[in-house]
Amino acid sequence: MRPLYFDHNATTPIAPQVRQAMLPLLDEVFGNPSSGHAWGLDAKEALEAARRQVAELIHAEPDEIVFTSCATEANNMVIQGLLRPTSSIPAPHLVTSAVEHPSVLAPAQAMARLGARLSLLPVSQDGLFHPSDAFNALTPDTKLVSVMLANNETGAIQPVWELADICRQQGILLHTDASQAAGKIPVDVQRLGVDLLTLAGHKLNGPKGVGALYIRRGVQLPLLLHGGGQERGRRPGTENTLLCVGLGAACGLARQHLEEEMARRRRLGDVLLDGLNRLGADFRIFGHNAPRLPNTLLAGFWNMDAGRLVEGLALRDVAVSAGAACHGPGTSNSPANGPVISHVLEAMHAPRDYAAGSIRFSWGLGTTRNDVLELVERLGRVLQDQSGA
Ligand code: PLP
Repeated sequence: MRPLYFDHNATTPIAPQVRQAMLPLLDEVFGNPSSGHAWGLDAKEALEAARRQVAELIHAEPDEIVFTSCATEANNMVIQGLLRPTSSIPAPHLVTSAVEHPSVLAPAQAMARLGARLSLLPVSQDGLFHPSDAFNALTPDTKLVSVMLANNETGAIQPVWELADICRQQGILLHTDASQAAGKIPVDVQRLGVDLLTLAGHKLNGPKGVGALYIRRGVQLPLLLHGGGQERGRRPGTENTLLCVGLGAACGLARQHLEEEMARRRRLGDVLLDGLNRLGADFRIFGHNAPRLPNTLLAGFWNMDAGRLVEGLALRDVAVSAGAACHGPGTSNSPANGPVISHVLEAMHAPRDYAAGSIRFSWGLGTTRNDVLELVERLGRVLQDQSGA
């Protein structure tokens, strides 16, 4: 059977162009970018070209981009950097949303244990926070508002930009985790009005283990790690030039094909939804009325078990996720004998009968219309096997 990969929000394959760009870094361009000799200068040149490519994708300046080891690190730099209580500010305040990725929620909770105060914005049934809730949550001690741009489970796009003016007026920093948005929809730090933005290499056909943090000029972020002066003193440690170049190439590729890929992926989504409707199954799309990423569909099948559906599909060589793929402890709500519902669906008050059978389909570069049609056919068989079983 032909394998069908519908789990692009978990991770994406490295694009051939990205791989090609990385090869010299495995070979002759091996210098330390901080060294002053020719080997170092070659590595530095490759690193700075990659930084420009990342900056271009999000309409930033290259000196506003800091390479990190992943999106998780970038999110931790922001949350821990700004929310760690100090003797002068013993209870700094964070406003974030209930549907954030664990790489935001877990450090936020860790800072709360040290004394920081946390306001978790509720979301609507479609998974969107309401800007007025954010405005009402602001206090004189609010240091940071952090709301993701696109949700990894539902694909819902949050109205982050609506918070920019008020945050700026009140001197509060605005961060967005754009790990799932970058490379899939236009991301422009100027239009968003954010001060800080996170992205991840492996969500846009780049390598794993590399991310970037956009830090608007003038914004000071206390360090998480202490060491050398790399990344203009904002993130010590010798840069992983191989992966940074991969991230840069992935950003360049995404930028080049953004409009056509968005339209293509949206059409594939229509084909998928049409196929699901034809199956005659009882299902709901979570985040149905929200603006959504063009590559994501979270469907809840009535009275089904998501884990068993994922297994059934895996046996038919189909990769999908039940909710998010990278949940850590404490992020899901699991009643003693009930199904495990993701914290995102919990926050959306998704009906359990549908949430328990929720499957995330996510597609990307290389996914074809035939793949979608074949997916629907195999899914139909799995649903049939498992309904009433
Ligand atoms: N933020 C979001 C929205 C994500 O979807 C993910 C990964 O799934 C991350 C952050 C963390 O990415 P990484 O595991 O590469 O650090």
